[in-house]
Amino acid sequence: MDNKVYIVQCEDYTDSDNKIKSLIDLMGGMGRFAKQGEKIVLKVNLLREARPEAAVCTHPAVAAAVGALVKKEGADAVIADSPGGGYRYNGKTLDKIYRTSGMHRAAQQAKIELNRDTTSRPASYVDGILTKHFDIITPVYEASAVFNLCKMKTHLFTMMTGAVKNIFGVVPGLSKPGYHAKLHDPKRFAGMLLDLAQYISPRLSVMDAIVAMEGNGPGTGDPRQVGLLIGSESPLALDVVAGEIMGIDRKQNSIIMEAEQRGLHPNRIEDIEVIGADLSEVKVPDFKQPRVAPGNFGLDPMPWHQQIIQPFFKNAYTVRPKVIWDRCIACGTCIEGCPMEAISFVNEKAFIEDDKCIRCYCCHELCPEEAIGLHSSWLYQLLKPT
Ligand code: SF4
Ligand code: SF4
Repeated sequence: MDNKVYIVQCEDYTDSDNKIKSLIDLMGGMGRFAKQGEKIVLKVNLLREARPEAAVCTHPAVAAAVGALVKKEGADAVIADSPGGGYRYNGKTLDKIYRTSGMHRAAQQAKIELNRDTTSRPASYVDGILTKHFDIITPVYEASAVFNLCKMKTHLFTMMTGAVKNIFGVVPGLSKPGYHAKLHDPKRFAGMLLDLAQYISPRLSVMDAIVAMEGNGPGTGDPRQVGLLIGSESPLALDVVAGEIMGIDRKQNSIIMEAEQRGLHPNRIEDIEVIGADLSEVKVPDFKQPRVAPGNFGLDPMPWHQQIIQPFFKNAYTVRPKVIWDRCIACGTCIEGCPMEAISFVNEKAFIEDDKCIRCYCCHELCPEEAIGLHSSWLYQLLKPT
């Protein structure tokens, strides 16, 4: 597995054309990654309908810059993603999200395609440890290669979303909640993500960390200027470096911990060669962390006494999603996206049945009105991570 991660400083999206070129040149040039006649899918993050400045989606300037370099090599580039689990994967949804996110204009400028094919194909991955079968959106299934253009964001369920988590978007819209329903625990969910990342095996990953998202990401956190573009041939290595920059404790990062348990490398910063910047100089020491901690509270392996009290502890030490009724417009996105059918309309507002909720926070990340708040239990308030 490749252990090199490349960093280029970029303060503003107006300069991203030049800086993406610098990054790819540092990695050996686009000729290493795209060949004449190939069809390259630029797998961006289009979680939900949001404007570029909200830092929810990969910035369109980054997609356009990478797409233009692909075109120069004589290959075709197509922007594709299936938005989050509450959104139906159809032409109308894609069109709205492409326009609001700026991808529509970016594709025109770079003279590259926007995917409009909303079919999917079954795929088998015999080497999958937890998951051997996936439903994959057709452009990704048929691509010569996938370029993984992810966004640096915090994530309430997996602590961060970067290169590995971004690949989950190849699973079509309403199929996504099924994975949450089957894999409640963040570590098992991370195992599925690692299987999927290995199956898709992106040829290149580039993280848009020019403006990242901190706090309660990935749908409604706060934009945070970080000023970096990060590239790697290894999504895992990229996430290890991004986690360091964001100040995320690796023991709280379910993807990194699961990778370590599986013996996937590189999963430690000591094993990674960082090129282009001094890591200590680009870390963001006060990057705001998400308000919840994943399942095992950073203890790995979990001691026997905690295994016994964990079911009680998990309910007492928790952050519950709660609908802010004033803001709810009854669009139904959270209902579609909830893997446990825990949400329904009561008096024309969304209502969450707490005993059915598994705290996956899909509703929080998908609500277009930011109408799902987070309510901390008294024990969480007492012991919350600092
Ligand atoms: S809380 Fe209301 S506005 Fe938000 S997704 Fe649910 S139904 Fe839509
Ligand atoms: S109500 Fe609970 S289970 Fe349903 S999406 Fe929200 S956090 Fe997940």
